[in-house]
Amino acid sequence: MLANAAVSDFDDMPERYLLDQGEFSRRRALKMKIVGLAAMAFTRLANAAQSAIDYAAGAAAQRWKGLRERIMGTVVSKEMEQYEELRRNLLWTAIKPDSKPEAIIQVGSASDIGEAVKFARANALKISIRGRGHHTSAPIMRDGAITIDLERLNGIEIDAKERIATVEAGVTSGHLLGELLKHGLAFPVAHCPTVPMSGYLLGGGHGWSSKAWGTACSNVTGIDLVTADGESIYADAKRNSDYFWAARGAGPGFFGIATRYHLKLHSKPRAIRRSSLVYPIAAVGEVAPWLSELSDKLPADVELICMLSNPPNAPGNENRTLTVAADAFVDSYEEARAALEPLKTGPGAFTRSSFNRHSSLYLGDGRTGGSSLRRVSDSHWIDVNPTESMIAFCQAKLNPPSAQTAVFFSFNPCPKRDAANPDMAQSVIGRTLVLVLGAWEKPSDDGANISWFKRTSSVLDSVSIGHYINQCHFPLSKDRPNRCFSPENWSRLEKLRARYDPEEVFTYFD
Ligand SMILES: Cc1cc2nc3c(=O)[nH]c(=O)nc-3n(C[C@H](O)[C@H](O)[C@H](O)COP(=O)(O)OP(=O)(O)OC[C@H]3O[C@@H](n4cnc5c(N)ncnc54)[C@H](O)[C@@H]3O)c2cc1C
Repeated sequence: MLANAAVSDFDDMPERYLLDQGEFSRRRALKMKIVGLAAMAFTRLANAAQSAIDYAAGAAAQRWKGLRERIMGTVVSKEMEQYEELRRNLLWTAIKPDSKPEAIIQVGSASDIGEAVKFARANALKISIRGRGHHTSAPIMRDGAITIDLERLNGIEIDAKERIATVEAGVTSGHLLGELLKHGLAFPVAHCPTVPMSGYLLGGGHGWSSKAWGTACSNVTGIDLVTADGESIYADAKRNSDYFWAARGAGPGFFGIATRYHLKLHSKPRAIRRSSLVYPIAAVGEVAPWLSELSDKLPADVELICMLSNPPNAPGNENRTLTVAADAFVDSYEEARAALEPLKTGPGAFTRSSFNRHSSLYLGDGRTGGSSLRRVSDSHWIDVNPTESMIAFCQAKLNPPSAQTAVFFSFNPCPKRDAANPDMAQSVIGRTLVLVLGAWEKPSDDGANISWFKRTSSVLDSVSIGHYINQCHFPLSKDRPNRCFSPENWSRLEKLRARYDPEEVFTYFD
């Protein structure tokens, strides 16, 4: 049986049945030895690899230990469990870039900043700075750098008698305004309450009442800052004036870290009232020339915007609407009525209207919604009469793929004299600011929306005299950052940067 079986199943027999028992044992012993040696070698290798990982993690942890001991804030380094969630939450938009800083340093006090800068220099790390991550170009995080996060710097001191305030960088527009209103005071804070003073003031700041009170940075009288060497200094028109010049308009091109701003305050307007009219896009031929004329007639305390938007679930260029809104920041109902009267002269084609209604703008009715959407934004200053560009733009086949997307035209939003002020880096202000605000929900719609955003921005490129640095999408073109400044101010900024940060410790626009 066995012989038969052995012959018949020969081809399938395992090796050991073909050998005599002695040979089989020798081979098996050799095999066992090889397997044993291989297993031992593998275990050793695995242990060595694990120790290398442990060592690296330990070394990395060790690297930040000294800094952790010296600051009040927290250091969340790349290998820590909470790093990824924190990194993703740094940006206001739901679009998260891939850049991974070596560590995020959430400063607990202004003195932490100097320590963090000195640590970065000693470890040959570059530094990116974060206020609250609202900038569309995400300059707050870079591979291989550290991010110094100022969000926890939230102190506000108000001297109501002198009408001045000192605010730390992380203070939001909503927080500041809330505190000021208690004293019957106000400041040209951003239109959206979540925007912090940090980057808003550095880049210029076009907010509520900027048309009357000037860009927000023109109301900054001094700043406390940390230099690229990690030293704390104060700058104003007389002391360290190069820093003061740059801190008023350079935005992400600033070569220091602003920790506190000293602000000039204004009286709170007692009446804030709005008139608005909604037109179909087809009426742009009548609406645009009227708006151009109207914008030159309205007093400084009335702010005029026109929003081009897409009603939900209404695809097609022809369904878009133009919403005209004028906000009066005055002291009484009668003053508002007189100031808003010219809105009654608008073309009759509107589909909805309201006149001289109480407005809760100061209570946080920002013009932009929440941060759960995927967002990109860009801006263009137009200096000629905006009629033609508005008509051309509205007639172009530029229907955005998302109903949440909008384009704003702000007429004379801030005084042109602020661009000519030799004491400020801010140097491009035109007659109309066009803001392109792309917003959508799903990552799968990124392609269509970003392509629309690029097309729209390139149509506007042909008429714009430059961009507003706080709402400028740098990746759109190489010259975007310098087109936010006059050629003279850009050249001065570059020279100052080379002088005060010769080793390029800060990451700037890269
Ligand atoms: C919803 C929304 C509403 C907005 N509304 C307005 C508005 O009404 N008016 C307006 O003018 N702008 C507005 N903006 C734009 C806003 O001003 C900019 O995005 C500004 O950069 C926000 O400041 P941030 O500190 O959050 O910037 P971040 O994105 O945190 O920082 C951007 C860059 O600015 C620099 N920076 C920031 N803080 C400091 C600092 N303290 N020291 C040194 N460098 C610093 C750094 O280079 C940093 O990388 C709005 C933006 C959003 C998203």
